[in-house]
Order: sequence, then C-alpha cells, then structure tokens
Amino acid sequence: MTGVIESQENKDLRAAVAALGARHGRGFDRAALWSEAAKLGYLGVNLPEEYGGGGGGMAELSIVLEELGAAGCPLLMMVVSPAICGTVIARFGTEEQRRTWLPGLADGSLTMAFGITEPDAGSNSHRITTTARRDGDDWILTGRKVFISGVDIADATLIVGRTRSAPDDATGRPAGLKPCLFIVPRDTPGFERTGIDMELQAAEKQFELVLDDVRLPADSLVGDEDAGLLQLFAGLNPERIMTAAFAIGMGRYALARAVDYATTRQVWKLPIGGHQAIAHPLAQAHIELELARLMMQKAAALYDAGDDIGAGEAANMAKYAAAEACVKAVDQAVHTLGGNGLTREYGLAPLITAARVARIAPVSREMILNYVSHQSLGLPKSY
Ligand SMILES: Cc1cc2nc3c(=O)[nH]c(=O)nc-3n(C[C@H](O)[C@H](O)[C@H](O)COP(=O)(O)OP(=O)(O)OC[C@H]3O[C@@H](n4cnc5c(N)ncnc54)[C@H](O)[C@@H]3O)c2cc1C
Repeated sequence: MTGVIESQENKDLRAAVAALGARHGRGFDRAALWSEAAKLGYLGVNLPEEYGGGGGGMAELSIVLEELGAAGCPLLMMVVSPAICGTVIARFGTEEQRRTWLPGLADGSLTMAFGITEPDAGSNSHRITTTARRDGDDWILTGRKVFISGVDIADATLIVGRTRSAPDDATGRPAGLKPCLFIVPRDTPGFERTGIDMELQAAEKQFELVLDDVRLPADSLVGDEDAGLLQLFAGLNPERIMTAAFAIGMGRYALARAVDYATTRQVWKLPIGGHQAIAHPLAQAHIELELARLMMQKAAALYDAGDDIGAGEAANMAKYAAAEACVKAVDQAVHTLGGNGLTREYGLAPLITAARVARIAPVSREMILNYVSHQSLGLPKSY
C-alpha cells in the first residue's frame, strides 16, 4: 500500500521530522528548534523553489507541524508564518514582496504573524473595522486587534484591514469597505502591542494590538486592493489545515504518553491498559485522530491541486475533526494517568487548556458547524 495515501517521499519527510522532534522533545527551546527546522528546509517546504522554498505544498507543511507536535514540540508560528503569510505573498504579492519575504520565511530568518481577530468583531470577520486610508502614496492604518500570536517574535504582522471604496456614483450607494492585507513591520511607529495574560503554557504569546494612524508605504499592501477577499481566503484554508495538524500532533503526543503509562502501570494484577475501560477510550482516540488526519490529507491534497472551493469545505471539516479528536485524546490521556495526570512531572495537565485552542481558533467549532450546515447541507442561515 506504499504511497496510496502518502507518497514515499512524504513518509520519509514524516520520519525525518519525527527524528528532529525526538531530539528536541517537550522541553524544547522554540528558537533553537525553529532555526534547526528551517535549516533542514522544513519551514519553507510549501514555498516556491525559486524563492528558496521546497516547492511542496500544504501536504508537506502539515506533516512537519504534525510530527513536531507528536514529539511534544509544536511550532505554533508555522500556522501563520509559512502557511498563511507565505502562501498569500507567494500567490498574490508583488515580485518585490516575494523577494523581500519568501526566502527569509523559508530559511527561518524572517517570521510573520497574522492579525485578523478584533475585539468587537470576534468570529464575525465581516465586522472588522481596522481601516486603511490613502495619504498621498502612503497608507494610514487605524484599528485594534486581539489574540494575535507571536507579534513580539515576528518581524512583521500581516494585518487584515479594509479600504474604503469610492461611492458608486451610478447607484448613489455610499462607500463600501473592502478587505485588504497589509504588511506591518514590528517597530512601525503607532503599532503598539500589549501581551495578554493567557492561561496557556506555550512558547508563543498572544497580544492585543493598537494601530494608531500607522503610516505605511504604498508597497505594504499585499496584492490587489480589489481582490482582498479572495487573497484572504487563499491564506485561511492553509491556516485551517495547519491547525488540524497542530491538533493531531498534540493528540498523538498525549495518546502516546497514555499508552506508555497504561502499558507499565500495574495496580491490581494487570497493567491498567489491560482493562477495557482504559484501553477502549484510547483506541477510540487513536481512531478519531487517524480519521481527522485523513480529512486533513484530503484538504491538503485539494488545496495543493488548486481546488480552493473543495479545499475550503475539507479544511473546515478537518480542523473541526482534529480539534474534537485532540480534546478527547488529551482528556483521556490525563485520566489514564490517574493522579499523575495532574502532576508537573508528567506534564500532561497543561495540554487540557492547550487542546481547547484548536476548538476556538482560528474559527470556532460552532462557526464550522454553521458553515457546514449552510454550505454543505443547504440549511437556512441562523444569523
Ligand atoms: C491561543 C490563541 C491564539 C490565537 N492566535 C490568533 C492569531 O495569531 N491571529 C488572529 O487573528 N487571531 C488569533 N486568535 C483568535 C481566534 O481566532 C479567535 O479567538 C476566534 O476566532 C474566536 O473569536 P472570539 O474569541 O472573539 O470569540 P467570539 O466570536 O466572541 O465567540 C465566542 C463563542 O460564541 C460562539 N459563537 C459566535 N458566533 C456564533 C454564531 N453565529 N453561532 C454559534 N455560535 C457562535 C463561538 O463559537 C464561541 O464559542 C487566537 C486565539 C487563541 C485562543
């Protein structure tokens, strides 16, 4: 069956990344792992070869994140830097933006964060109000963002804003607001960040951002002012696929710890894994993680084949399935360890919080169920 679901090349990639992950493990140093993974070509595996990338796609990039996660050392910024920002710039950036950013994103010397979420818009990204206006050749960006990951370690943040279109003279309709993407370097005047005190044990922090009349040169706008929505969606499918990879990796890590423990821990005559009440939920978790991975592979295959619409549905379903499988696997893993599930020594308890992230971000479980009920099933909209 070699290569039916995954090519031999990708299986080799999986094994090589797993070996890298095993060397770093749970107590990993984020920056050291980031630079080693980059040097080995893993971080830019999806980016075009002519800009220093590996020439692969989301199939390969998701393997890298899943395997690092399964080894206990996920790199959250992979979800945004090469997957969203790298994809958007490779597909829609100007030649200059590609040359400026892609080689660095590929070799890990540059990192880019991604900011769409706003305090007053939340799940409803149609309500975002960060607005860009022209001032001569420059853009002036004003607004607020929340929960943006890794802004402190990123060289720039790709900010989703809106530009005001001219009023339609023919219909007399007022000016509209079109989504658009801006590259905002970290130390740009007026671009302020405040760390959010999250209950998460992770190497990457989340930030609230204030953009107070941030002046940006004309070439900060990525792609076409009139095609912002299309460009945004091109980045959001990779984000969902990578969140699925993140969740599957974490679920596999927790499950492996639980299986180890259940094989050796003996309370009565048998190791606890011999009791079906312990074994079956672990088997179920394994099945559900495998199923989620299959959907993630489908989403990545569709995306890499250029089917953005098909990938949209599959990526949402994969993210949903992976998050649910991860939450269940972590919950069962902690339970399997009994009291040790809550000790610092075994280190599983923080995953209870971490596993919830994939259920909430980048799009919540409920918004995916809304999407599937409207788009896939044709049911009436509730909002
Ligand atoms: C650790 C972490 C990292 C993040 N990193 C980033 C990042 O790098 N960049 C970025 O832009 N964002 C990031 N986010 C933000 C994330 O994408 C949002 O938290 C998410 O989109 C949900 O938005 P919200 O928190 O405002 O929740 P809300 O939109 O307020 O939703 C709250 C609850 O209400 C439910 N709900 C809302 N509307 C409906 C509806 N119509 N029908 C049914 N239920 C509904 C939701 O499902 C949810 O359960 C991150 C979040 C976390 C937790």
